[in-house]
Amino acid sequence: MKFVSNRVQARHVQQGTRIPESELVTYREAVFRGLAPDGGLYIPVDEPDMRDLFLSLSSQTTFLDIAARMSNALLGNELGLEVADRITTTAFDFSPKLNQLSDDIALLELFHGPSCAFKDFGASFLAASMSEMLSREDTRAVVLTATSGDTGSAVAHAFKDKQNIDVVILYPSGRVSPLQEKQLTTTGGNVHALEVDGSFDDCQRMVKTAFQDASLSRDVRLTSANSINLGRLLPQSFYYVYAFSRLKAAQRDKLIFCVPSGNFGNLTAGVYAWRWGLPITGFLAATNRNDVVPEYLESGVFQPRASVRTPSNAMDVGNPSNFDRLQSLFPDHQGMGTVIHGYAVSDEETIATMRRYYDERGVFIDPHTATGLFASEQTSVADVRDAGLTVVLATAHPAKFVEVVQQATGRKPAIPARLREAMHKPKVATQIAADDAELAEFLRGL
Ligand SMILES: *Cc1c(COP(=O)(O)O)cnc(C)c1O
Repeated sequence: MKFVSNRVQARHVQQGTRIPESELVTYREAVFRGLAPDGGLYIPVDEPDMRDLFLSLSSQTTFLDIAARMSNALLGNELGLEVADRITTTAFDFSPKLNQLSDDIALLELFHGPSCAFKDFGASFLAASMSEMLSREDTRAVVLTATSGDTGSAVAHAFKDKQNIDVVILYPSGRVSPLQEKQLTTTGGNVHALEVDGSFDDCQRMVKTAFQDASLSRDVRLTSANSINLGRLLPQSFYYVYAFSRLKAAQRDKLIFCVPSGNFGNLTAGVYAWRWGLPITGFLAATNRNDVVPEYLESGVFQPRASVRTPSNAMDVGNPSNFDRLQSLFPDHQGMGTVIHGYAVSDEETIATMRRYYDERGVFIDPHTATGLFASEQTSVADVRDAGLTVVLATAHPAKFVEVVQQATGRKPAIPARLREAMHKPKVATQIAADDAELAEFLRGL
């Protein structure tokens, strides 16, 4: 499979011309570059037909097997089947679970990985890909990333102990939750946490400056692991197929996936699975009050704006970075609207949904998943659902957001062992000022 910058693709679509070979890049190039040199996002240029593969799966097929078959179909040509297999096997020593709540709603639990959130799937596959591709060269790479919480912990766990990679994670001092800070700072080894005396915006600026620093990039091979990286995006398509394989033929009829969304990477990966032949009816994008995509689907106008804070803070995104990828798949908002429906959930509805699931069923739901459950239940989207099954992606373990869960239910969920472990380890972080030169010095000293 080859990839191209969405900007190049858009230009050729407009001019009605073919994209020349010279514009295409391999998975390897796309993964190490992150962003295309023209500032665009890499998108697949061809669409493999995997329908037969999808229909041949049974409810006994393991997630690892599904992931391996899809990686082979996507990357086997470039990397060889053996390498593609090794990447999947290294990446996934955890699996999703499908939990049917009622006749019309099921949860696809994506929080059984090391950091207890769905970002583990993408981060693990990216880490395994990079490590495998570097192993045949004699170089080290430094993964540099800024985090406001969730991404950093998934990246820290995924890259831990990778031989040829150092990871440097910048986070704003005092502005991530205590548990998130522990997850970032207790991995040790090749994972270096930098506690920045500044805001998340400062962290992002420092990372951006480092990437643009030509002299620094001669000394240090920098690469990114953020959510626009194809190495994180592609593997997120695997669990949609897994959910499909777990359902009986009658349930698959009119199947809808509801995706709690912020940067829309998770949803985009699902749309790819559909384009590659997964026979489903459509998607419901649940957002919180940061609702620029539901608004676009309604009006055809995409109006990015500053984000607002909500209880589902990993979805507090005012300018979703994967929107351009979605747009490249559809001619206009009406075309997109035939496959993707949007629904924005208020803070009160989110909290009330968490409370109701606890009171009525005794289950703890994290605030992100709660937006998905609420959106799925709404009668205004019943026409989308049309009495079929909705699979809601459960994006995080409730124990990751214990403060909000406690506010909604009055109770604390049980903490999984892997989170408890991190809480008891000592924090190891290097304090630095919000200063570009200090970061450059740290990177040179690695
Ligand atoms: C990142 C995140 C989201 C949003 O996912 P996108 O791919 O950015 O849309 C939703 N829920 C949780 C728990 C997250 O960490």
